[in-house]
Amino acid sequence: MSQLYHRETQNPCYTNAMQNPLIIANLKTYLSNVKHVFHLQESVWQHLHKEKYSYLLAVPATMLYQIVQEKYKAFKVGAQNVDTIEEGAHTGAVNVEAVLSAGASFTILGHSEVRETGETSGEIAEKVGASLQKGLSVVLCIGEKSRKDSDSDYLDDIKDMLAESLQNVDRRAVHELIVAYEPVWAIGAPKPATSEQTLEAVIQIRRTLAQLFGLDNAKKIKILYGGAVTADGVAQFVNEAGVDGVLVGRAALNPKEFADIVNSLYEG
Ligand code: 13P
Repeated sequence: MSQLYHRETQNPCYTNAMQNPLIIANLKTYLSNVKHVFHLQESVWQHLHKEKYSYLLAVPATMLYQIVQEKYKAFKVGAQNVDTIEEGAHTGAVNVEAVLSAGASFTILGHSEVRETGETSGEIAEKVGASLQKGLSVVLCIGEKSRKDSDSDYLDDIKDMLAESLQNVDRRAVHELIVAYEPVWAIGAPKPATSEQTLEAVIQIRRTLAQLFGLDNAKKIKILYGGAVTADGVAQFVNEAGVDGVLVGRAALNPKEFADIVNSLYEG
């Protein structure tokens, strides 16, 4: 069973997530050449204040094996999606077993950029269940498409997305589940959600997880924030919104900016 973080399972709302923040760089398809990924990471390490600071890197499936073989200590490597089909005549599919055999520790699932291509909640639920059952940790992305401060419908959207996506999850596997709150309107946007907006969503996520898995199990599930994260103000998400870390897109392409995110989350 993979271990993505060292901290003992405790409620992140009440513990110091700064001691062991969970930071994931989602490289999407920004870099198609694995050498460029290596160069980028080497540059990130030069800007990290301490060697022990670490993060996770989600890369295209074809790069997984090569990056894992390099045995870099600074980060663990994961996929950005998986298919759930078994071995067989499925041209072009990359299933959970293939991703595991390449050495991946985790996979992102349910990212809005994949949902936009027509991926259904039922398909996501299958992927989540199969990944966890086979020992691949899951970073499940959920988030409302739009939000008006005057209405609370988005809280129902969050609840529904969680309930649908997690319907195949065995309680015993929840310690390998991470939920990333990524409001779709903040992804690729100039500014992230505020810490108040994030806190509201985090409370709803935690409440729903407690309804689904019981309070003790819900406390074991890490919650991240993603969407236009930069180094500026990133610590507020942990300090004020009760998340355990962040899922970073564009800012992960700038080594100094990304290292500053890691530095500031470790240093508070
Ligand atoms: P940006 O940080 O580029 O807004 O992307 C967020 C994201 O989609 C991470 O998964």
